[in-house]
Amino acid sequence: MSDGYDAIIIGAGIIGAAIGYELSKRGKKTLNVDMLPAAGYGSTSNSCAIIRVYYSTLDGCAMAYDGYYYWKNWTEYLCADADEDLAAFHETGNLVLKTALNDQLRGTLAHLDVLDIPYEHWTDEEITRNFPFYDLSCFAPAKTLQDPGFGKPTGGSIEGGVFFPKGGYISDPQLATQNIQRAAQRVGAEFLFNRRVVEIPTRDNRVQGVVLDNGQRIEAAVVVNVAGPHSCKINAMVGAERDMRISTRALRQEVAHVPVPEGVDYAGNALVWSDSDAAIYARPELGNNILVGSEDPPCDEHQLVDPDSYDQNFSDQWTVQAMRLAQRFPELGIPNKLKGCVDLYDVTEDWIPIYDRSCVDGFYLACGSSGNQFKNAPVAGKAMAELIEACEAGHDHDADSMRFRLKHLDHKVDLATFSRLREINQDSSFSVLG
Ligand SMILES: Cc1cc2nc3c(=O)[nH]c(=O)nc-3n(C[C@H](O)[C@H](O)[C@H](O)COP(=O)(O)OP(=O)(O)OC[C@H]3O[C@@H](n4cnc5c(N)ncnc54)[C@H](O)[C@@H]3O)c2cc1C
Repeated sequence: MSDGYDAIIIGAGIIGAAIGYELSKRGKKTLNVDMLPAAGYGSTSNSCAIIRVYYSTLDGCAMAYDGYYYWKNWTEYLCADADEDLAAFHETGNLVLKTALNDQLRGTLAHLDVLDIPYEHWTDEEITRNFPFYDLSCFAPAKTLQDPGFGKPTGGSIEGGVFFPKGGYISDPQLATQNIQRAAQRVGAEFLFNRRVVEIPTRDNRVQGVVLDNGQRIEAAVVVNVAGPHSCKINAMVGAERDMRISTRALRQEVAHVPVPEGVDYAGNALVWSDSDAAIYARPELGNNILVGSEDPPCDEHQLVDPDSYDQNFSDQWTVQAMRLAQRFPELGIPNKLKGCVDLYDVTEDWIPIYDRSCVDGFYLACGSSGNQFKNAPVAGKAMAELIEACEAGHDHDADSMRFRLKHLDHKVDLATFSRLREINQDSSFSVLG
């Protein structure tokens, strides 16, 4: 490893690796530093890795649709060797139930129409034809387990859903990250593991590089904060929060894996399922399980934590998510042995990420991914590389926001959408759906 770099990327999760890859492709000498032993071992490792095109903002949908094509053409994106072990994209499509909470998806579908993204309306009959074991009664609003009304229908039935064929999930998010690491290394990127960044020296408001926990100082003109749930700690190290109107914080999450009941043909029909009425999302998981995540209803406790010290055991939250799935899936048994994961989102106030420069010259932000940016990593990598190159060449992104042209659709994303200086975006779902 040599002494100086054009850019040091703090973090080797899916987004950090993608930024290293794109900067290296542009001829920059890059180093990704991660305190964990391998790429994708941080919050990326427990990502549900759902690929979907529906977001609450136009730019959110556009980025996600562009991202879909990178997953679809993964080998091409990576310029991978024929014998490489690559993460698989299970293109199951996604079904989102129409509910009062998501306004029957009207806002999202208007964005999809503008962008020409395909979708199909499904009636209740079509849903139950595909999933005869589902109960489509309404249960909203979501309740805690202690609420006497938990699990009791509240009247009426779901009024159909929207099926998005361009979506699915990646079964191994860690392997996907290591795929990008290898692709980046092929174009010259370097990675350093088991080393924590403890200081980011500056001179005249410009970053100089980083100092590691073994005292080593590495020089670089650019430092990028892609530290996931630790991003607020990295921003504090360099004083980058000074002008940020949007902050990032670590939010604890639990994901449940529940066995498919015997005799139910789940795998044959399985797709990604988003259900704001029951406040859960679900997808097939290895070992004939169903993975259940939360859509963060207001009744659930939102636990902001210190990313270096939080409870990694399952709690009632695991059970409530599994029981919310059981509302739809009455055959479901709740096992004694709990499986799944506990991890952290790096959330912003409006659940939209920050892809931006900072008030410290040479210090950039790719953080606040709010539980919904795995799918966008390849696009974020490209957008950040272009932003960094433009700003380092003197472009004033704060005064004149950059527009980033997507590769697979005729749309330019205004990166002001992801600015640290934005007002809270009131169009957001204010949940993991972004
Ligand atoms: C439970 C869960 C479910 C999710 N589901 C989905 C989903 O279905 N679809 C979707 O699109 N997104 C999803 N996400 C979000 C997605 O996984 C994240 O947006 C994405 O993985 C973030 O990648 P990253 O590279 O920014 O961060 P991370 O993967 O968190 O990587 C950050 C890295 O920085 C390192 N680091 C931190 N501080 C330091 C330091 N001081 N020095 C050195 N290294 C440091 C860490 O070790 C870590 O490896 C989910 C997230 C979680 C937690």
